[in-house]
Amino acid sequence: MTTHSYLQWYFRKLRTPVHFDSSKTCLLMIMSVCLVLPCPATRANGPQRVGDDLPLGSVTVDDDFWTPMMEVWQRTTIRDCFAKFENDGAFRNFERIRDGRAESHESAPWFDGLVYEMIAASSDFLARHPDPQLQHQLDEYAKLIAAAAERDPDGYINTYTQLEDPTKRWGRNGGNLRYQHDVYNIGCLVEAAVHHYQATGDTRLLKTATTLVGHMAEEFGFPPRLNVIPGHALPEVTLVSLYQLLRDDPALAQEVCGEVEVESILRLAEFFVQARGHYEGRTSLEAYAQDARPVAELQTMEGHAVRATLLCAGMAALAQERPDGVYRECTQRLWQNMTTRRMYITGAVGAIAHDERFGDDYELPNDGYMEICGSVAAGMFHHNMGVLTGDGKYYDELERVLYNGILAGVSQSGDQYLYTNPLTASAQQRRWQWHGCPCCPPMFLKMMGALPGYIYSTRDDGVAVNLFIGSHASLPIGDQQVTIHQSTDYPWNGSIHLKLQLDSPSEFTVRVRLPQWCDAPRLRVNGKPVDSPRVEQGYAVLTRQWSTGDAIQLELPLVPQLVHDNPLVTTNQGYVAIERGPLVYCLENCDNQNLLSHLYFDQDTTLRVESRDDLLGGIDAIRCTANVRGVPAEASESDSAEADHTIEALAIPFYAHSNRQPTARRVWLPEQRQLAEAQKPATIASQAEWTASHCWSGDTTAALNDQLDVAASDDQTTPRFSWWNHRGTTEWVQADLADSTEVSEVQVYWWDDRRLGAHCRTPLRWRVLTLQEGEWKPIAEQTAGATAMDRFCSITFPRQSLSTLRIEVELQPEWSAGILEVQIK
Ligand SMILES: [Zn+2]
Repeated sequence: MTTHSYLQWYFRKLRTPVHFDSSKTCLLMIMSVCLVLPCPATRANGPQRVGDDLPLGSVTVDDDFWTPMMEVWQRTTIRDCFAKFENDGAFRNFERIRDGRAESHESAPWFDGLVYEMIAASSDFLARHPDPQLQHQLDEYAKLIAAAAERDPDGYINTYTQLEDPTKRWGRNGGNLRYQHDVYNIGCLVEAAVHHYQATGDTRLLKTATTLVGHMAEEFGFPPRLNVIPGHALPEVTLVSLYQLLRDDPALAQEVCGEVEVESILRLAEFFVQARGHYEGRTSLEAYAQDARPVAELQTMEGHAVRATLLCAGMAALAQERPDGVYRECTQRLWQNMTTRRMYITGAVGAIAHDERFGDDYELPNDGYMEICGSVAAGMFHHNMGVLTGDGKYYDELERVLYNGILAGVSQSGDQYLYTNPLTASAQQRRWQWHGCPCCPPMFLKMMGALPGYIYSTRDDGVAVNLFIGSHASLPIGDQQVTIHQSTDYPWNGSIHLKLQLDSPSEFTVRVRLPQWCDAPRLRVNGKPVDSPRVEQGYAVLTRQWSTGDAIQLELPLVPQLVHDNPLVTTNQGYVAIERGPLVYCLENCDNQNLLSHLYFDQDTTLRVESRDDLLGGIDAIRCTANVRGVPAEASESDSAEADHTIEALAIPFYAHSNRQPTARRVWLPEQRQLAEAQKPATIASQAEWTASHCWSGDTTAALNDQLDVAASDDQTTPRFSWWNHRGTTEWVQADLADSTEVSEVQVYWWDDRRLGAHCRTPLRWRVLTLQEGEWKPIAEQTAGATAMDRFCSITFPRQSLSTLRIEVELQPEWSAGILEVQIK
């Protein structure tokens, strides 16, 4: 099998012409240029928006891949997150404001925003799947928030500022707008209000949000008015949504607006964009928060990745309403920079941990930051560009980040989460139950709550099928409601069946996206091949007289491929990754004999799809033969492949990583032998089976003998074993040796995190035991210095033949302990 150049970023296929009738698909690759796109349809005097999402409730997802996960997110994740936010005190802050209690604020300043985001996301789930308990919960939150806001004459609500710095509202009087999150939180309130109203018809939160936005619209502006912008983007896009809702429903506007002029909401959104880089009368929020220069001058995605992508999502939404502004051009330029130079194969963005920011062009380390929120915000940016332009390339990238970068964000159990989501990680990176900054779960839920609405969009002349998710949708076309049924086993199978249902025959257009990753899509209408469909902006355009029962079938061959990275991403030269259809794959150590760092692929590696119903909720895994770089022969003049052997490696979809035991993962693997690490000679410890009296769920016994170098007792880069959260107890680890072996020394490298201010210390004492006549008997007592930090500590004893041994440890009172590596000699 051949390897394939990885076609993303600045390598792009031209979409037309695509020849359906032969394998001679015309693929032109062009470097680093903007595609000249056909002008989208523009509504004469109205907003410029090519595709509209379908309203909540008009799409039902019925899909073997997505439906079970959506049930987990609604049943488990939403409840889990609300319970944890309640535990953090996020709602108690509102109660303090409502009740006029001058008490301290709990949690971080942006927790108001996070719980608003939870309400927005949960409302979308609720709209599609009735849930009286959840609805009651949301209604109670809405009452609490509205009552708290009513305490202020302007309707202002930001519990952190009100409880901690009441004189510093909007960052005035020496406040710190970037930290306080006043405007960001209110932007999230607007989003919650819109979604809660759409799901329930309850206008309570909508009135609260609109009143406050009206106040801000009066106060904010260029000097002499208050020059205030969001320290964290998001309000831009949510204000556009609020504006569109009220503009399109005058009766609703009349009910909730009072004195507030609807147009002023859009003007405020526009001010939040236009004021960037114009910081007269305030402190600049700098490039970190996209405030170093005016947006029209931006050439590259800069600063905090979530803020930057959300600002772009907001500008794309604004461009729908302000076609003459700079927003369209600006977002296209920035999108091009992001997707061709600053985005990972999984669609993740934000390479740099410091400031959680974008790196330079092609600066994409595999162990980079890749926050889940950045992936979600990038997905929102892609989606809003798709709505604005109708171009399928934006849905291609939405699909990439959805199935890879975003979907990994919540565990399959629904209650464990990720913050960073790098392509390469050691066993030490694992999911958390909760976080000091739990921003990612609400963002994840917002994307998944909104997802059904992204599958189809209405067009002036019909409908576009953007995503391949089994579903039913009802949408107005001409003067009738047309129902589309989509059935598919995507992403495991590339057959997509669409069936139409309508009252009377009618001519309209069905656009079906042809994903960029697919070289040879095939299309049939009512069973007949469509050899040369018109292809526009990445969609096959099918215009004809449609009748009930008409069927469209799209075949997307799903061929697993080894792909190369862009040659300008220097870290990945000599490496390959596995893709199949929209899915990126990774290898986890636990599936590959813990040999991950020693593997390399041949040019002619054959990839085989292996359906595994038993694994990770049911996946198509990929099997392939991989080479293991062996132990260098001591006397050889040059290191050769003679010592190498092969294994049957197993790759799983990247989205499913970190759902089993702590284990390392990699997406990019060497195709050159010298890039793989040579194996170390097998040792007594490495060949032994290890068990323990207790192992913390976040740690692993595999750390005991992984033969990885350890730099210090608090080395956090290497896997560890610990007895946490046992303190002051007597514990053990046990090695069952491969054979009865002559042993005279045991060495232990202790985990001790005192310098990190945590709770493990070297133990009080330890000894070595062996099993004699069914009883564990000591064979050696501790020698002096055997509990030191930052080195191997050793116990020696007269040489004897052993088949099993235990290291028994007496923990210090009040402290736990752990081990980074054990050696047996
Ligand atoms: Zn986050």
